[in-house]
Amino acid sequence: MTSSPTSRRLPTGLALLLVGLLVAVATIATVAFLRPGLVGLVPGLSGAGGTTSDGQPFAVSADDLTEADGLIPGGTTLDDTNLPGIARLDASLADALREASSDYGMEFVITTGWRSERYQAWLLQDAIDTYGSAEEASRWVATPSGSAHVSGDAVDLQFDAADWLSRHGAAYGLCRTYANESWHYELRDGAAQNGCPEPLADASSDPRQ
Ligand SMILES: [Zn+2]
Repeated sequence: MTSSPTSRRLPTGLALLLVGLLVAVATIATVAFLRPGLVGLVPGLSGAGGTTSDGQPFAVSADDLTEADGLIPGGTTLDDTNLPGIARLDASLADALREASSDYGMEFVITTGWRSERYQAWLLQDAIDTYGSAEEASRWVATPSGSAHVSGDAVDLQFDAADWLSRHGAAYGLCRTYANESWHYELRDGAAQNGCPEPLADASSDPRQ
């Protein structure tokens, strides 16, 4: 292709506006995509009151949370067993994910694995602040006592891995739990033989809550 001899330069003001729009769209898309991994790092939000079942105070701000609570950096994989967020996953779940990842041919990137109760409590408060009500928040974030992340029985995966598991996960017993969370996977008994059960609508309809 050759450029048209009649093409003209964009007026500077319009060009700047277009660049600004592109930067804004790219920023929003990046934050939305990375949110499962970043949500624990946003400072300045109020936390939930109370204590965990082992007597630790709930985190009152993101600054209280560390890798010991299950925070994991971007790009974390199942090999990062120095991180409690990976090391404290249920062994059967981790084994199934490793087997699937090996067959996929690429490392699954984990955005969240195991989380402490105080991390989960902070996420729930963050969701209540974000969505404006406990009822709406409960569709997206489980309680500290009901979360499969806190028990080490769930992972949130980056899009490509979740997409692959949506088609192949059942063979490894790995199933999507919630219709509104394409990234959240858990082990399900019998899935390898019978396929995965229908996902629940959202976390608020989970009987573990
Ligand atoms: Zn999850």
